[in-house]
Amino acid sequence: MPSTVLQVALPRPLPQAFDYLPPAGEAAGADWIGCRVRVPFGRRALVGVVTGVGPAASGTPALKAVDARLDARPLLDGEAWDLLGFTARYYHAPFGEVWATALPGPLREGDPAPEVHPQRWRLTPSGLAALPTLRPGRPRRVAERLLIEGALEAASLDAAEAGSRDALRRLAERGLVEATHAPPPPRAVREPPELNDAQRAAASAIGAAKGFTPLLLEGVTGSGKTEVYLEAIRGCLARGRQALVLVPEIGLTGATLARLQAGLPVEVHAAHSGRSDGERARAFAAMASGAGRVLVGTRSAVFTPLPEAGLLVVDEEHDASYKQQDGVRYHARDLALVRGRSLGVPVVLGSATPSLESLKAAIGGRLGRLVLPKRARPGAQAPTVRVVDVRKRRLEGGLAPELVAALADTVARGEQALVFRNRRGYAPVLLCHDCGWSAPCRRCDAHMTVHAGGRRLVCHHCGATQPRPPACPDCGSLALQPQGQGTERLEEALQAALPEVPVVRVDRDTTAVKDGLARRLATLGDGPGVLVGTQMLAKGHDLPGLTLSAIVSLDEGLFSADVRAGERMGQLLVQVAGRAGRAARPGEVWLQTHHPEHPWLALLLSGGYPALAAALLAEREAARLPPYAHWALVRAEAPVEAAATAFLGAVVDTIAGGPGLSWSGPMPAPMARRAGRARVQLLLQAEQRPPLQAALAAAVPGWYDLPEARRVRWSLDVDPIDLL
Ligand code: ADP
Ligand code: ZN
Ligand code: ZN
Repeated sequence: MPSTVLQVALPRPLPQAFDYLPPAGEAAGADWIGCRVRVPFGRRALVGVVTGVGPAASGTPALKAVDARLDARPLLDGEAWDLLGFTARYYHAPFGEVWATALPGPLREGDPAPEVHPQRWRLTPSGLAALPTLRPGRPRRVAERLLIEGALEAASLDAAEAGSRDALRRLAERGLVEATHAPPPPRAVREPPELNDAQRAAASAIGAAKGFTPLLLEGVTGSGKTEVYLEAIRGCLARGRQALVLVPEIGLTGATLARLQAGLPVEVHAAHSGRSDGERARAFAAMASGAGRVLVGTRSAVFTPLPEAGLLVVDEEHDASYKQQDGVRYHARDLALVRGRSLGVPVVLGSATPSLESLKAAIGGRLGRLVLPKRARPGAQAPTVRVVDVRKRRLEGGLAPELVAALADTVARGEQALVFRNRRGYAPVLLCHDCGWSAPCRRCDAHMTVHAGGRRLVCHHCGATQPRPPACPDCGSLALQPQGQGTERLEEALQAALPEVPVVRVDRDTTAVKDGLARRLATLGDGPGVLVGTQMLAKGHDLPGLTLSAIVSLDEGLFSADVRAGERMGQLLVQVAGRAGRAARPGEVWLQTHHPEHPWLALLLSGGYPALAAALLAEREAARLPPYAHWALVRAEAPVEAAATAFLGAVVDTIAGGPGLSWSGPMPAPMARRAGRARVQLLLQAEQRPPLQAALAAAVPGWYDLPEARRVRWSLDVDPIDLL
């Protein structure tokens, strides 16, 4: 029996690597490290990654052998491999899970790394010579198309004329066409606008940066941050380096991708949820091979290998979607900074409304600061803001009459408006007007949301759904009324008030399909109309015809228990406001609230986001809240609360104290029950990161084996961004 074994990490919530023998006749050596292997695990086969070779752990029973080695060379090596190790250590996550998170689906499942460029077909020299002699028919038409277009994918030929694949096969048999994986020819580039002084200063600061240089690009909405990224990326390409641009999860990706592609002479690869798994795997392989030069992607793209990295950009760096909320709870912006340091390249964090973490770092001098103070389009100005006090007002479908009138004026001028409400569905609550009963979810601590024009109830937390009850289950009354407005109901009210123009709703329910958001925005076109929707609308869309933005209710944002409520409210308000008046026509912003005197609102109106952010930072510092403290949240869920509490009690016993380290809990989570499970949490707090990290490093590996762990689902969230 060979004395060395392969240590294999598996995509399972288990902290340790597993020992396997190499396949019969092969020897375990260092060249296996980083390569994928298929191994037997229990009754199934899993794909894992070799993390080491060494002597078998003593006392292990008879070891099984690896079924197959899947790579000759590692998919992730060098700096990209080290990033996985950092992520596993910092978030105290199993290495196998981190590795699986970093890979596109097909690679995680063991598929071979795809060809970098899709297979395309072209005429061979003999095909070119023979073309005039071909009989009229499909093969000849295919050959003619290839003559005109150069090289084409079989799929696009087939889309132009069904049956083309068959014709290709016959042409290939005669040696008249051949498959190629050569890169597509360079693209024509849109002429960039002439940068203004602030843009030019920012772009040259990025271009001049040597080595690791973290920079905060603080540009008001519409200030032209994308043009700065483009200029910086062109410089990076000219130096022969690769660039990675991270974008938030929903909404923005398609638009940003199109703008970057139009402004760059190379193919821009994309890795986001709108792309098929195959395309993501191809983008990964292209960047890893160096053939790909620019990648635009969401959160997990931060793990893509970049052997010739020159620039990392995180657009809308404040966006919460950079933080993964399940599995490995990493923050892509923070990892981008870690990568920038080990790669020795500049990292640009762009936002109109930077996170308090980044602002604090900028104030402390750890992030350089680049500012774009004005809107970029000639003539574009900051919008005017009106606060509508809706106390004791009669509203029409949730809207103040003067807002409805302003919307009517806007569309009458041929312009567009946006109405924002952070609640999808018809109404947030179904209420009995006679006894006060309101429809609860049986499995969650939450109300059910009314959907489908009032006919269905849906729980937004567990997905439970049921028809609306015909009568109140408590008192039998028929006076059941949907309370408040969701986007569906607003759409109805707006369409009734503005029957002449399209009212287009944009939320998770209307954009679930591929490219749904882009298609919804396209239905509006350039003509007059109204967009109504959630969060998705707040993100960087550039809609030149939009001149009015309205927030239907600011109040939930003002009174949430979340420590980040103020920051989020300010970001949302500024981003929604930022959609209006981006071109020559002036914009107006309407805010409906029952609390017009709220101090956060007053700060925003007098000094904008910077004033609010400064006040919130001072509050956080006084209260020793993040970013002036470091947190880790342990959550446990179980059918009975006692089991979850017992687990967290046992967790507390594993935590050795440390300087400035404290904890609160176990205590019920703000949402104490979800999907039929009790939720309990433990919050670890520390003044400095190292004692917290040391305590976790010592304790977490033991949590998997606690007897109490068997009765719960638990997770650890380092630097949590919400405590719900
Ligand atoms: P941001 O991302 O900062 O909100 P964008 O990059 O979307 O801003 O730019 C807003 C608009 O201004 C876009 O339509 C863009 O084409 C235009 N723009 C940007 N820079 C310039 C410039 N230097 N001159 C003219 N128009 C510009
Ligand atoms: Zn009732
Ligand atoms: Zn529920």
